[in-house]
Amino acid sequence: MGQLEGKVAVITGAGSGMGRAMAIRFAKEGAKVVALDYAGDTAEATAKLVTDAGGQAVGLRSDVSNPADIDAAIKAAVETFGGIDVLCNNAGILDMAGIMDAEWEYWDKVQAINCKAVAMFSQKVVPEMEKRGGGAIVNTASVAGLVGQAGGLSYTVSKHGVVGITKHIAQDLGMKGIRVNAICPGAIVTGMTEAFGEAPEFVQGNALPRWGKANEIASAAVFLASDDSSYVTGVAMPVDGGWVCK
Ligand code: NAD
Repeated sequence: MGQLEGKVAVITGAGSGMGRAMAIRFAKEGAKVVALDYAGDTAEATAKLVTDAGGQAVGLRSDVSNPADIDAAIKAAVETFGGIDVLCNNAGILDMAGIMDAEWEYWDKVQAINCKAVAMFSQKVVPEMEKRGGGAIVNTASVAGLVGQAGGLSYTVSKHGVVGITKHIAQDLGMKGIRVNAICPGAIVTGMTEAFGEAPEFVQGNALPRWGKANEIASAAVFLASDDSSYVTGVAMPVDGGWVCK
């Protein structure tokens, strides 16, 4: 029996990278997956990868910064699979600009997608999790949510925000049986980091001086989404090859 047998998991940013890896891995662990992404038909493509491998999934085009899209995604999950047990707030965009290069319109977009949407989606999913007697929310933050200079300024602010949301709502939702945790990935090979070509300087000085794989983040997500982590909440867990411990 898989670690997520019988659970319904909604995963944002599931059309690429870590979100896609989570969708595939969650389904292997027995979850029914609702894959969401705003880019083209990438969410549907992820769902097809899952169903072709014998799992259960649907894919929907959905922008996490749009409240109407969140409502529609939750409705679709409930209508298709009967409820929601797990939410992975994983969608995100990168900004490498420092203080002197910051562009304020893009700043707002980064905060809306990376940070505000995490709180908004979490708030909206709570009633469905309460109907199931509880649930697990797994947020993809970053090492940039724990230290400065791991990304640009707006990105760092947004990911510190995700860690803050995680700690705050873990307290709010504990009595409802809902656990809330964050994963803080280091440098991971995905669509977001393709342009960096696994450059060694990003991982120099790490305890494990190599880039990580999306699957290694998916493994952490399985743990935090499953009952194996039943006493773990409010945690911001680095999965970073020893980046922030140095
Ligand atoms: P990725 O670009 O491969 O995947 C991110 C996905 O999110 C994309 O498919 C994109 O279309 C989607 N997305 C972006 N904005 C969206 C929106 N408004 N609505 C719905 N979907 C949206 O990148 P990834 O590395 O897999 O990123 C996943 C998460 O991990 C992000 O939150 C990112 O900030 C975080 N992260 C990445 C790294 C890394 O090294 N790759 C490190 C730390 C944290």
